[in-house]
Amino acid sequence: MKSEYDVIIVGSGIAGLHTALKLPKELDVLVLSKDYAWECNTFYAQGGVAVAPTKEDIAVHVKDTLLAGDGHCDPQMVEILCNEAQDVIKSFIADGFEFDKDAQGNLLFTREAAHSTDRILHAGGDATGRGIHHFLMEKLKFPILYNTQVTDLLIKDNVCYGVKVFHKKKFNFYAKKIVIASGGVGSLYEFHTNARTISADMHGICLKYGIELKDMEMMQFHPTVFVKGNAVRKQLLSEALRGEGAKIVDADGKRFLFDYDSRGELSPRNIVSQAIFDYSQKNKKEIYLDVSSFEEEHFKVRFPSIYFNMKNLGYNLPKDLIPISPAFHYSMGGIKTDKDGKVPSIKNLYAVGEAACTGVHGANRLASNSLLEGLVFSKRTVKDILKTLDSTPFVRFDEEGEVLVKEGDKVLKNELRSIMWNYAGIVRSEKNLEKALNRVEEMLKLQTGKLIKLRLLTSREIIKSALKRKVSLGAHYIIGEKEV
Ligand SMILES: Cc1cc2nc3c(=O)[nH]c(=O)nc-3n(C[C@H](O)[C@H](O)[C@H](O)COP(=O)(O)OP(=O)(O)OC[C@H]3O[C@@H](n4cnc5c(N)ncnc54)[C@H](O)[C@@H]3O)c2cc1C
Repeated sequence: MKSEYDVIIVGSGIAGLHTALKLPKELDVLVLSKDYAWECNTFYAQGGVAVAPTKEDIAVHVKDTLLAGDGHCDPQMVEILCNEAQDVIKSFIADGFEFDKDAQGNLLFTREAAHSTDRILHAGGDATGRGIHHFLMEKLKFPILYNTQVTDLLIKDNVCYGVKVFHKKKFNFYAKKIVIASGGVGSLYEFHTNARTISADMHGICLKYGIELKDMEMMQFHPTVFVKGNAVRKQLLSEALRGEGAKIVDADGKRFLFDYDSRGELSPRNIVSQAIFDYSQKNKKEIYLDVSSFEEEHFKVRFPSIYFNMKNLGYNLPKDLIPISPAFHYSMGGIKTDKDGKVPSIKNLYAVGEAACTGVHGANRLASNSLLEGLVFSKRTVKDILKTLDSTPFVRFDEEGEVLVKEGDKVLKNELRSIMWNYAGIVRSEKNLEKALNRVEEMLKLQTGKLIKLRLLTSREIIKSALKRKVSLGAHYIIGEKEV
């Protein structure tokens, strides 16, 4: 296999594959995927893609995004996201992708929490991500290398020349442009909804080179997750369920969310997650999602994945109440980029999708804005790549590198997950964050393999960012010392 390319893309989710779709076929491009191509968050996305259905709604989409982001979004980036959404979706449809339509052939828009209009496009009912992933894989015109983990970036004098990978053995790939599209940080937490490949290694590598990560305290916890059962990835119960009438109740059927926010089930995610956490702690009660307002036949067609997955777990929907808990879901923070996906301090390096922090999500992501971000900003990234592609000679790097895994790393990995869930999760306190930081610092001094080190570096960054933000904002909820 050759070792030099025009562009290397790390990741085969929406951000990576849409970057590949938009690059001309004449270029030499290689896509790298840690596992099977579909083992990514994109594949598991249920609800849909947000886009204003009319010109007039664009300003409202901007407003809803800024509101959900709790004053912490970058307004210029939000304008880009919402203004370019219609064009990118039109071109996605023109490329052949089919969103769900009504009998007359009109696109079906649904609503999700904190959206003030129906503006969520979906596909295959609740299988939007699977549909998008399948479509992008079918369109992929470049080689893709599976089971290939990027373990380092090849950086010298602030220029990126490629990546070091592990695929049966260690070797280097060189490229004129390198795009990180490696997703978020889910596996750092004990309970999460993410694909098993999403473990923040690229964030850790960036930290090693002093590349800035932004908003790392801003971690989103999805309020309605079925966390029982042994699977590592927990079953998500899409926001669209609440948008279309599902209720959150306690064991006595009380809709307690209204005690926390007048919008009840349609409050932003952080408010619903924090309310469920608080109410269940204070009242020692199990919390449920009640979907009994749906007709069974409609439910089966509209939410087929949830219907069949829950059936396999012994739940008869829509009749049965589903026990729920919040779980880690999405990272608003990430590798800081500009509006064209560029990582400011390193020449030829880009980040896009959940791995990046463009600032569009602020302190709390508005539902269904992340698939959209993957589409909009990968298109901008491609434009910049094509404008600036030159032939700087490659600097060569040693092919060896640190030991990736050592005995005992798995025990540390599980301890880290528990620390992150308990001390850097939905409700934080300075005391618990300090405890977490001390233990992570201790772990960083141990003789471990490189992969756990990368997880530890990213975790430390999340904890440190959380410690710096003394007052709650959006998804970052910190309680005072007295309340611990
Ligand atoms: C259950 C679930 C439901 C969701 N529903 C929605 C929704 O309805 N609407 C919405 O907008 N968003 C939704 N989201 C969020 C959204 O799916 C993600 O933010 C988005 O898909 C991220 O796309 P991505 O391309 O950035 O990353 P991903 O799709 O996660 O892809 C990351 C890729 O990087 C690869 N990778 C990672 N590390 C390495 C490495 N070191 N070396 C090589 N490859 C690597 C992985 O293998 C993977 O291929 C949901 C998320 C989940 C988990």
